[in-house]
Amino acid sequence: RHGSIVFVVSTTGDGDPPDTAQKFVRKIKNKSLPHNHFFHLHYALLALGDTNYANFCNGGKTIDSRLQQLGAKHFYATGHADDGTGLEVVVDPWIEGLWDALKKTFSSMATSDQQDTDLSDCTQDNFHKNASGQEKNKSDLEVDLHLLKLSETDSQKGKAITSDSIDVETLSTVLAASLKQSVPPLSESALNVPALPASYLEVCLEQVSTEGETVPSDKDSYHEVSISKAVQLTQDDAVKTAISLELDISEQNLAYQPGDAFDILCPNRASEVKELLLRLDLQTQKNGAVQVNLLKNSSKKAAKIPLHIPQNGSLQFILTWCLEIRSAPKKAFVRALADFTQNSSEKRRLLELCSKDGSADYNSFVRDANVCLLDLLRAFPSCLPPLSLLFEHLPKLQPRAYSAASSSLQHPGKVNFVFNVVEFPARPEHPARTGLCTGWLAGHVSSILRPLGTVPASERLGTSALPKVHVRPRPSSTFHLPADPSVPVVMVGPGTGVAPFIGFLQQREKEREANQEATFGEMWLFFGCRHKDKDFLFREELERFAHNGTLSNLIVCFSRDEPDAAGTVNRPTYVQHNLSLHAKNVASILLKDKGSLYVCGDAKNMAKDVNDTLLEIIGNELQIDKLDAMKTVAGLREEKRYLQDIWS
Ligand code: FAD
Repeated sequence: RHGSIVFVVSTTGDGDPPDTAQKFVRKIKNKSLPHNHFFHLHYALLALGDTNYANFCNGGKTIDSRLQQLGAKHFYATGHADDGTGLEVVVDPWIEGLWDALKKTFSSMATSDQQDTDLSDCTQDNFHKNASGQEKNKSDLEVDLHLLKLSETDSQKGKAITSDSIDVETLSTVLAASLKQSVPPLSESALNVPALPASYLEVCLEQVSTEGETVPSDKDSYHEVSISKAVQLTQDDAVKTAISLELDISEQNLAYQPGDAFDILCPNRASEVKELLLRLDLQTQKNGAVQVNLLKNSSKKAAKIPLHIPQNGSLQFILTWCLEIRSAPKKAFVRALADFTQNSSEKRRLLELCSKDGSADYNSFVRDANVCLLDLLRAFPSCLPPLSLLFEHLPKLQPRAYSAASSSLQHPGKVNFVFNVVEFPARPEHPARTGLCTGWLAGHVSSILRPLGTVPASERLGTSALPKVHVRPRPSSTFHLPADPSVPVVMVGPGTGVAPFIGFLQQREKEREANQEATFGEMWLFFGCRHKDKDFLFREELERFAHNGTLSNLIVCFSRDEPDAAGTVNRPTYVQHNLSLHAKNVASILLKDKGSLYVCGDAKNMAKDVNDTLLEIIGNELQIDKLDAMKTVAGLREEKRYLQDIWS
C-alpha cells in the first residue's frame, strides 16, 4: 500500500535539521537501509531557511536527498523558502499548488492500490464488487494523507518555536498498520476468513410510540433505591478517583452480610446511543416498538430469540439498557459486518481483522484497544449493518457488581460501596472515555458528590431529589467472617479491594462492643495505595479500628511516595512485600491457629503476586519445596481458609 507524506522542514544551527527531527534524520541515514526502503512513499517537501546563514535550507535538503536515495518519489516539487526575503514568497504559492498535486497523487495511488488489491485478492469473497454486486468505484478508495509538519525553528537560537515534532515513530505510524489499514505481508496475503455466521433474526419496527419508557427490562429482580451519600475518597490530584456511595435500602428491606456484593444496572451513554441511531439511519424510528422474530429458513442450529431483548421495547430503550454496545466486537461479528460494507478497501480490512492471518491485528487494534461497534462504524464509514445483525451479535448489557463496604449492624437500612472511576485514555481507535458503570455513576451522583469531611447531601436535599439506582443483592457463599469470632484473620485489600474489609471491621467493632467478655481473634489488614495523602481510602476509619483494638495490625504501604527522611532502603512497595516482612505472623495464623486469609481487589496482578508470596512464606516456614507449598495452599482453599474476592 502506498503512502503520501508532506514534510515541512526548517533549518537550525549550522545548517542542521531542527532538534525535533534529529532522531528521524539519524534513522533514515542508517547505511544498512536498503535502497528501496521507501519505494512506496510519495512525498512533497517544503524546506525553510535563511540565505543570511550558511547552508541555506540544509535541513530540508538533507532529508530530501536521503529520501530520494531510499526510493521515495516526489509528487510535487520541493519548495525552498527564504526568511531573508520573506518565507511567504515561496510558502504561499507552494501551499496553493499542493492541493491539486495531492488530488492527482491520490487518484493515481488509488489506481495502483486497486491493481495491487486485484492481484492479491484471493479470498473466498469477491472484493471487486460491493454488497449490491456493483463494480467498485475506484475513487471510493481512501488513501490516507498524514500531513506531518516539522516545527519551524528559530534558526539563530536553534530552539523549537512550536511543539509540533516528528520522529521516526511518527513516520512509522503513517506507514504502520492501524485499525483501518494493514501493511504487508497481511495487506498482500490471501486470507483465511471464518465462515459467515448464519443470520437468524428478523427485526421489525412498529410505528407505535413508546416514548418515555425508562425502566430496565428485567426490573423485577431489581430494586430502585436512593443514593443517600456520595463521597469522593481521593484527592483531586490522585491518579484514580475513588467514590463511595451510600444506598438507602431501608424501604426495600434488603438484607446483606459484609462480604456480599450488589449488582447495579447501568445504561449505555445517551450520546453513544444517539450516534449509533444516527449512524444506522434509525434516529427517526428510535421510539418505534421493536418486534423480534426468528428468521424462517435460517441455517443456524437451535436459534433462539435472545432473552435480554424484550418484545415491544422501543429501539432507544433496547440500545440503552439491554445491549452491551461498548463490548469489543467478536471476530464473527466483524466477519458479518464486512458483508454490509460497500467500500472494497474497508471490506478487505474488516475481513483481515477477522481472519486467522490478521489475528495479531485484531488483538492489537480491536480487543486490546477496547474498540466497540461505534468505533468500527466510525472507522469504516461505508459499513451499514441492519438492526438484526446488532441484535444477533451484541451481548447482554450486564450489571456491574460492587462489594458491600459496610455492615448493617453499624449502618441499619444502608449499604455502602466504593469504586474507582475506570478511565480509558484516548487512542487512535477511539476518544477518551470512562468505564461504562463507574463513569455513569460518577456523573449520576455529581449533584450530591462531596469531598471527605463535608455535610452529606441527604441533610440538604429531600429524598425525592436524590439520585436513584437499580440494585440487586449478590450474596457470596463463602467470603464472610469465620463463624467462630475467635479465629484470627489476615485481610489483604489494596485500593478499592479494602471494601469488604471495612464491612468486616464495622461488624467486628459492633460485636466487640456488644459482647465484651467474648474472645475475638486477631485481625490483620494489609492495605496499599499510591500516596499516603492522596488515595489512602478510609484512612480515618481504619485508624480508628486500629486505635480501638478492632484491628490488631494495620499494615500499609505507599507505592509512589518518596522514601521518608529515614530513607528506608527496600521499603515495602506493595502488599505482598509487607506480607513477606510479616511472614512469621502470617504463617503462624494460617498454619498453627487455623486462621483465614482473605484477598480482595485486582485480579490481574495483585492476587497473583500475593499468591506467589504466600507460596514462598509457606515453603520457607514448613521447609518444603514449591510443589508441596502449592498443595498446602490448595488445602487452605479447600477448607475455605484462603478466600478471594477479585475482579479485573
Ligand atoms: P467497563 O466499561 O465494564 O470496563 C471494564 C473493562 O475495562 C474490563 O474489561 C477491564 O479489564 C478493563 N479495564 C479496567 N480498568 C481499566 C483501565 N484503567 N484501563 C484499561 N482497561 C481497563 N469494582 C470496584 O471498583 N469496587 C468493588 O467493590 C467491586 N466489587 C466487585 C465485586 C465482584 C463480585 C465483582 C465481580 C466485581 C467487582 N468490581 C468492583 C468490579 C466492577 O464490577 C466493575 O467491573 C468495574 O467497576 C468496572 O466497571 P465499568 O462498567 O466502569 O467498566
